[in-house]
Amino acid sequence: ILKGDPLQEFEKLEERILIKNIIFSKDYEPYARERDQKIYDWTKLKNITFKGIKDQVIFEKSEIVKQDGKPYTIFTPFKNKWLEAFKSVDWKPVDLSKAGTFTRFSYVFPSLKEIGFISSNIKVKDFSLEDVENYAEHRNFPSSDATSYLSPHVRFGTISIRRILNATLSKSDVFISELVWREFFMQILYHFPYVKDQSFSPKYRQINWRNDEKEFELWKNGKTGYPMVDAGMRQLNETGYMHNRVRMVVASFLCKHLLIDWRWGEAYFAEKLLDYDLSANNGNWQWAAGTGCDAAPYFRVFNPSEQVKKFDPELKYIKRWVKDLNSIKYPQPMVEHSMARNRAIDVYKSSIIK
Ligand code: FAD
Repeated sequence: ILKGDPLQEFEKLEERILIKNIIFSKDYEPYARERDQKIYDWTKLKNITFKGIKDQVIFEKSEIVKQDGKPYTIFTPFKNKWLEAFKSVDWKPVDLSKAGTFTRFSYVFPSLKEIGFISSNIKVKDFSLEDVENYAEHRNFPSSDATSYLSPHVRFGTISIRRILNATLSKSDVFISELVWREFFMQILYHFPYVKDQSFSPKYRQINWRNDEKEFELWKNGKTGYPMVDAGMRQLNETGYMHNRVRMVVASFLCKHLLIDWRWGEAYFAEKLLDYDLSANNGNWQWAAGTGCDAAPYFRVFNPSEQVKKFDPELKYIKRWVKDLNSIKYPQPMVEHSMARNRAIDVYKSSIIK
């Protein structure tokens, strides 16, 4: 296991051993594509075979595209085509007896600690892939812990996406749909790599953000005075995880109630999330901000108090994370909802580029 600048490491390795083939798992993020291109150019000079294998997705890049070959930018038709393609493949389990064996090297793997990992405080309920049947009914209620918590595993490849799909396919369409969202955003990033730095939709590239740094600090620290927002941010800060429903609420609050640039929120999530993934994070932030493809329209502003009534009516989730909820120290709402809602709609409306 080598660590360093990838190309330099290959150059150094080549001085020690004869390299004939490089086989790697493909990665579709802009940085990875540039890195792999550099290594590919080098392998050509050296007569080394360079072969990428599809690994982290079921369908990659341009496998699911419209009739005219253009990428989908709307989720539902993408999902329908994806499901159709998935069902038409004859998935056979790999016969491991024919897979050959790897030469055994005697090397010592570095420990997780040596690589820099530390334990998180996530307390995860056991979730078996077979239990996914209850997912649709409970997944939106953050206190019920009814989601899979698979995201860090999917992100780091510690469980295979094929295994997850095989185990869950006929059990929950809603769960499968979430996995398709993941691939949807991956292909968006692949075909529209500019989304990394700017809005997918050109109409929303000049929103007059307020970008108040003090307000950003309150949001980051879970001190907005809106219990669901604060619970989510505290869960994130303490564990590196936040429930999806709450991610949507805190993201909408930042972009719309506070009019803070979605890229600030995106960067904060990137720093904190254990499941941080550029395409999913970017796609979902742009969805919440209304700047993305197939995004929530700008005039849809989540009401954080209504979200509590719908998704945490007994305040179970909130009380788990906001211990000072009933103390006099707990802050008053930092901004009044109706004023903030109207302000967001006005600002968005007046900054649309026609
Ligand atoms: P489950 O509900 O059990 O879903 C199963 C799997 O489906 C997840 O592990 C994930 O791989 C995928 N998935 C579910 N929802 C989505 C979605 N909306 N978009 C893409 N994939 C999805 N997910 C990330 O993996 N990395 C991120 O950096 C990330 N950032 C987000 C930022 C915001 C503002 C929002 C609203 C959502 C974000 N998500 C991100 C999506 C989603 O919140 C997480 O995937 C989910 O909460 C992870 O928990 P889980 O594994 O229990 O999910």
